[in-house]
Amino acid sequence: MVKECQVLIVGGGPAGLAAARALLNRGIRPVVLERRHWPVDKVCGEGIMPVGVACLRRLGIELAADCPLRGVEYVEGNLRAGADFAEGPGLVVRRTDLSQALLCPAELVENCLVREVHRHGDWMEVNSTQGRWRCRLLVAADGLHSPIGRMLGLRRYAVKWLQRWGWRQHFAVKPWNGRVEVHYARGCEAYVSPAGPEMIGVAVLSQSGLRRHNWLDAFPELQARLHTPASELAGYGPLWQRSRRVHEPGVVLLGDAAGYLDACTGEGLSLAFAQAETLGQQWHGGPGLTFLPEYQRSYADIVRHYYTVTWGALWLARWPWLRTAVLRTLSSHPNLFQQLLSANQGLLAPQRPLLNLLLKVPPQLCAGWLGRSLQGVGERTR
Ligand SMILES: Cc1cc2nc3c(=O)[nH]c(=O)nc-3n(C[C@H](O)[C@H](O)[C@H](O)COP(=O)(O)OP(=O)(O)OC[C@H]3O[C@@H](n4cnc5c(N)ncnc54)[C@H](O)[C@@H]3O)c2cc1C
Repeated sequence: MVKECQVLIVGGGPAGLAAARALLNRGIRPVVLERRHWPVDKVCGEGIMPVGVACLRRLGIELAADCPLRGVEYVEGNLRAGADFAEGPGLVVRRTDLSQALLCPAELVENCLVREVHRHGDWMEVNSTQGRWRCRLLVAADGLHSPIGRMLGLRRYAVKWLQRWGWRQHFAVKPWNGRVEVHYARGCEAYVSPAGPEMIGVAVLSQSGLRRHNWLDAFPELQARLHTPASELAGYGPLWQRSRRVHEPGVVLLGDAAGYLDACTGEGLSLAFAQAETLGQQWHGGPGLTFLPEYQRSYADIVRHYYTVTWGALWLARWPWLRTAVLRTLSSHPNLFQQLLSANQGLLAPQRPLLNLLLKVPPQLCAGWLGRSLQGVGERTR
């Protein structure tokens, strides 16, 4: 027997569940198919930016505010560059708690792996381990490697030259910083966030593999503080995934499934919530679902600033000489840093703060170069 519904969502992660909530708010009762059981865990830094918290609130989801996130702070030796979010704090929420908080009165089907998707005229038909469904709109919120996107030929080829992976582990220790603390090591970075009164979460992003048994050796400063693991180290990637477009007749890609660049700016969840909210606002079930091209344009607006700022952060991770100069500049101009944090959330055009930063960096680059040269001369004359 084929079950029928107006909207079928594949993937009960944050994007899928937020979309279900947004559609419920419009009077549609979607069906959500999730291959695992709720609450779902996932490798993630678990930080939700202020813009994401506000979006959830508009959708009617209030998260426990036990673990506020004040801002972001980069640490390199004695150098610290940090700023608080201008919009007020974000939150750190364990993925299982977030999954629980997002559950809603949509029809939720767990342990249901979608295996095949077919188009039959105006209907999309889905074959899963728990039977068959047909729907007018199929929302593929099935994550970074989007099996549905691949089945429908919507994915673009994987990019080899910038492949990064992410890992996550929790440690039982009292948080020492209310901001996400970013530490750099050779070829990788660690993002440390408060995850509870006696818990911190560390996300590590890396260009290559991570030595699982001794990854902390790369971060001596953290090693001195992190003694008691509270979860297994788990990894995910490669991170950069692209799609040709985010919709085709009867189908829309949502969240990571629509495309993802990197976790270094911690925006994935907020982008997923914004996309879900927009889908709910623009939805109308008329023939041909003619709102989808409009959704594609809104999607581009939602992710544009994130891509600009994230590309900037990726270059910093690659070029240590530039990074030190930029961090020196940001440490003496916290307002500029704050503007970049707002730009990353899509609240401000990034061009102006980036141009401002570019103008201020060269003196720091010269100072760094001069310092290194003088040190070299000193060592040679000793
Ligand atoms: C190391 C790391 C750190 C990160 N840190 C942050 C951070 O601090 N803040 C932030 O905002 N973002 C962060 N992100 C990104 C964030 O985790 C993602 O953007 C977010 O999970 C996207 O949600 P989603 O619902 O699109 O995908 P997912 O969370 O991956 O959910 C997809 C769901 O689809 C299900 N599914 C897949 N295939 C099928 C199928 N065939 N049938 C049925 N179900 C299926 C999966 O089981 C899964 O539950 C990080 C990512 C990584 C890797």
